[in-house]
Amino acid sequence: MADTKKIECRKCLGKGRIHGYSHILNGVCFACDGKGYQTVKANYKPSAMYSVKIYFDHIDGIGTVFGLRARSEAEAKRKAKAQLLRGCYADQADTFTVEKR
Ligand SMILES: [Zn+2]
Repeated sequence: MADTKKIECRKCLGKGRIHGYSHILNGVCFACDGKGYQTVKANYKPSAMYSVKIYFDHIDGIGTVFGLRARSEAEAKRKAKAQLLRGCYADQADTFTVEKR
């Protein structure tokens, strides 16, 4: 059996229910099935929050477009690029920067 550990569920923050989703299955957290924790591999690295920033013409400066979670800067860049290409900032998909929050 692989080494695993229990971590507090990041979706519901250990509560097992998500306030605001009470209209769906009484708000039971689907990420942990209401247990409040998740079983992960022992070498699991929690993801960090990154801000994705691009240059805006209209303000002539750098601004944050959105935030995302990633386990590394490389992953953050990969996710950010995919998201930018889907949205209205596709032309910035090669010039954005990510910054760990
Ligand atoms: Zn949960």
